[in-house]
Amino acid sequence: MPDPILNKEWNGHVGPVVASHNEFDVIECKICGFKHSIPIPTEDELEKVYQQDYYTQEKPLYIERNQEDLEWWNMVYTHRYEIIENHLPDKQRSMLDIGSGPGFFLLNGKKRGWKVKGIEPSDQAAEHCRELGLDIENIFFSEQTAVGLERFDAVNMGEVLEHIPDPASLLKLVHHQLNDNGMLCIIVPNDFNPFQIVLRDHLGFKPWWVAPPHHINYFDFDSLGKLVERCGFEVVHKESTFPIDMFLLMGDNYIGNDEQGRVCHTKRMNFEKAMNQSGSGKVLGNLYSALAQHAVGREVVMFASKK
Ligand SMILES: [Zn+2]
Repeated sequence: MPDPILNKEWNGHVGPVVASHNEFDVIECKICGFKHSIPIPTEDELEKVYQQDYYTQEKPLYIERNQEDLEWWNMVYTHRYEIIENHLPDKQRSMLDIGSGPGFFLLNGKKRGWKVKGIEPSDQAAEHCRELGLDIENIFFSEQTAVGLERFDAVNMGEVLEHIPDPASLLKLVHHQLNDNGMLCIIVPNDFNPFQIVLRDHLGFKPWWVAPPHHINYFDFDSLGKLVERCGFEVVHKESTFPIDMFLLMGDNYIGNDEQGRVCHTKRMNFEKAMNQSGSGKVLGNLYSALAQHAVGREVVMFASKK
């Protein structure tokens, strides 16, 4: 029997509550092995949110800012392609980007000689991809829609898994979509990370990263790694991204302050561009690999190969 004080149960999911937001609780689910909100929104509820509203209401500046920061993004994307390429034979260069957003990751790959395809549920983002001349399906990736797709040598999923009601099923579907020894790259927020816990418990910040219904799952290096391995992959490399929450610890409060957020983001970009352009990109990669070992950094970047 679940402990009535510590544990909360919903539709077979059970675990201690680690945060609450409006009508949602986030539990450390003992069944799933990672933190997620309860109740879990249905696919139908979410489909409507992402198809019409997401880029216009939740992320109105998203595409514009991607364009503005494109030099930096291309640096980030090039680094990711290099890691994927290091784990694949030379001739295996087909990429499926699930949740391709404005399409700049795919465009970068296309210029490197990859055969690329994107799946993007948002009408607005899919349209932007097509304007870039990319091959895009304006759909959700699901058992039904995957039927018509060929297999790929690599799959990228950036900022997708935290939004999905059943990430294990999605990963199994991705596994099926990959060629043998194919590569998977996943980027998710690194939530409840050590810096955030200090901000919450020591400096009185509310857990701003808890954002249901858009964010359902709250991963970290450990829980994502275990999930990926349960779904038939072997983790081959992990890195974090810049620990942007360090600005909060240093007194620059960007929460709910878009202008301050841009200032901090620009400083991060300046740092990374200087490292790369000076030929010290490898130091940066090593630094972010080391941070991953300590669970620090704003995002989890995980590379896994199909077993
Ligand atoms: Zn669960």
